[in-house]
Amino acid sequence: MSTTIYDLIGVGFGPSNLALSGALIDKWTTPSNDSEKSIRTVLFLERQPSFQWHPGMLLPGAQMQISFLKDLAMLRSPQSALTFVNYLHSHGRLTAFINRGSFTPSRREFADYLGWAARYVEDHGVNVNYGQEVVAIDESSDGLINVTSRSITDGRLNIHITRNLVLSPGGSARIPNVVLPLMNESSIVNRSTLLHSSEYKNRVAKLLQSITSSAAPRPLRIAVIGGGQSAAEVTMNLRNLLSNIPSGNAGHQVDMLIRKGSLKPSDDSQFSNEIFAPEGTGNWFSTSEQGREYLMAEYKDTNYSVVNPCTVAALYEIIYDQKVEETITARNSGVQKTPGPKINIRSHIHIASLKYDVGSETFTFTLRNALTREIFEHETYDAIVCATGYQRHSWIELLSDRLKKRFGIGSCGSDVPIRLVPFAQRATYMVETRDDSSNVCNTPDSIATTPSISSSTDNVGQQQVEPVNLYITRRYRLLPIASSKIESEETLKARIYIQGLEEATHGLSDTLLSVVSCRAGEVVDDLLSED
Ligand SMILES: Cc1cc2nc3c(=O)[nH]c(=O)nc-3n(C[C@H](O)[C@H](O)[C@H](O)COP(=O)(O)OP(=O)(O)OC[C@H]3O[C@@H](n4cnc5c(N)ncnc54)[C@H](O)[C@@H]3O)c2cc1C
Repeated sequence: MSTTIYDLIGVGFGPSNLALSGALIDKWTTPSNDSEKSIRTVLFLERQPSFQWHPGMLLPGAQMQISFLKDLAMLRSPQSALTFVNYLHSHGRLTAFINRGSFTPSRREFADYLGWAARYVEDHGVNVNYGQEVVAIDESSDGLINVTSRSITDGRLNIHITRNLVLSPGGSARIPNVVLPLMNESSIVNRSTLLHSSEYKNRVAKLLQSITSSAAPRPLRIAVIGGGQSAAEVTMNLRNLLSNIPSGNAGHQVDMLIRKGSLKPSDDSQFSNEIFAPEGTGNWFSTSEQGREYLMAEYKDTNYSVVNPCTVAALYEIIYDQKVEETITARNSGVQKTPGPKINIRSHIHIASLKYDVGSETFTFTLRNALTREIFEHETYDAIVCATGYQRHSWIELLSDRLKKRFGIGSCGSDVPIRLVPFAQRATYMVETRDDSSNVCNTPDSIATTPSISSSTDNVGQQQVEPVNLYITRRYRLLPIASSKIESEETLKARIYIQGLEEATHGLSDTLLSVVSCRAGEVVDDLLSED
C-alpha cells in the first residue's frame, strides 16, 4: 500500500480524464488566489498498457464524427497548449490541415493527437500508471478513499489513497442477451469467432485465420449484429479483408442483421447540433425527468443506432456495385468467375435464438422478420461480430457496499437499476417517489442509468424494478445522502465525481467529445471549491 495521499485519483485515462489533466495543468500554470484549495498530487490509473483511444475500431479510412475544434481544451480555453490546433502546429501540419478544407480529422489522426496530449500532461506533472485496472473502491477509516488496482502484467494488487476521485471509465461492450451465454464458451473464445466491435481490429486477423485454416477454400458467412456506425464500418472492413481470401466457386458473405427497416443516417445538421453545445448541459440538467426523456427521444438519432451519411453513401455504393456485377455475371453465364464478397443488409430482424455447434464450429441462428413474422431457421454463420454498442453502469460495481450506502444505493444487488437524479430536483423525487431511506431493492432485473425506469409492468408481463436514486450535482459530483453518517462512523470527506457516465442527467453530449473540455474545467473548479 502506497503511503502517498493523493489530492486526486482518476479511474481511466481516456479523453475525459486527459481533458481534466489539461484543465489542472492550466490551473497550475495560471497565477491564482493563494487561499484557493490546491490539487497538486494526481494519479490516473489506466488498464491499457499505454495511451490508446478505442484501438479496436481504429480502422483504415475511419473519420471523426465531430469538429476538430471540439478537442480536449478549445471550448474551455482556446489558449491552452492542449488544443488540436497546437498539435497540428507542433507537427508542422497546420497549413496542410487547413488545405484539406474539412473540420473532421481521420480517427487515426485524432487518436495520435490524444496520444500527444497524454505525453504532454505527463511531462507536466501528471502521473499516469498504465496497465493498472481498478478493481475496487472503498472508504478508508478516516473518510478518504482507497482505490485498489490490479497490475495487468503480474496481477499484483496496489492500494492508493486519495482525497478526491474522478471516475471516467467510458463504456463497456453491450452484448445482446441471446448472445451472452456463448460469450465465455472456451471453444469459441479460443477461435476468436465471436467478438464485440470494441475489440474488432485486435482480433479480426485471428477470427479469419480460425475460419479459414482447416478447410479447403469455401465461401464463408459472417454475421454483423447491429445497424449503427460501428456495424457499418466493420461490415465494410470485413468485406475488404475477405476479398483476399479464396472462396471456391461461390463468394463470401457478410450479413448485417439490423432491427430497423434500413440503415438510418445520423442527424448532424446545424440546428440539431446545438443540443451538443456546452450551454445545453445546464438546460438538460434543469429540465424535469419527463423533459429529459422527451429530449432524449427527440435527439436520439444524432448518436444512437445511426450511421454517418458519408458511410451510408459508401455502403450503398458497394451494394449497388454488387447488383451491377450480378447482372453482368448473369448475362455472361458461360464465363466462370468467382464473385467477390457480398454484403447483405437483413432488415427488421429479431434474433429468436442462437446456438453454437462445437463439431462444425459454426453458429446457427433462428431469425424472425419482426414485420412479416417470417421465420428463418438454420441460418448458419462461421463467425459473429456484435456491433451492439456500450453500457455505462459497470463502474457502480467497483464501489464497496459501505460507499454505496453513503450514496443511498447501499444493500442493492448488482442488478437493481440506478436512477441518476439532478440533486436540485431531489425534493421532487422524494415527493413523487419516496424518501431516500426507502431506497430499497426489489427483484433484480437490470441496471440502467436512465431516468425513465419506474415501477410498472413491462410488455412481457414481468414486474419492473423500482430504481434507486443516486444524486449528482451540475458539476458532476455524486452527493452522499444525509442519513449516510451511520452511528460512530466518520462523515465521508472525499469527493467522488463521474464523467461520461451521466447522459441521463447531463445530456447527449456526455458520452461524446462535445463537452469534454468544458466539463473538465467545471470538475476542476468544483474540486477547488470549499463547499
Ligand atoms: C469507435 C468509437 C468512435 C468514436 N468516435 C467519436 C467521435 O468521432 N466523436 C465523439 O464525440 N465521440 C466519439 N466516440 C465516443 C467516445 O466515447 C468518446 O469519444 C470518448 O472516448 C469518451 O472518453 P472517456 O474518457 O469518457 O471514455 P473512454 O475513451 O472509453 O476512456 C475510458 C478509459 O478508461 C479505461 N478504463 C475503464 N475501466 C477501467 C478500470 N476499471 N481501471 C482502469 N482503467 C479503466 C479504459 O481502458 C479507457 O482507456 C466514439 C466512440 C467509439 C467507441
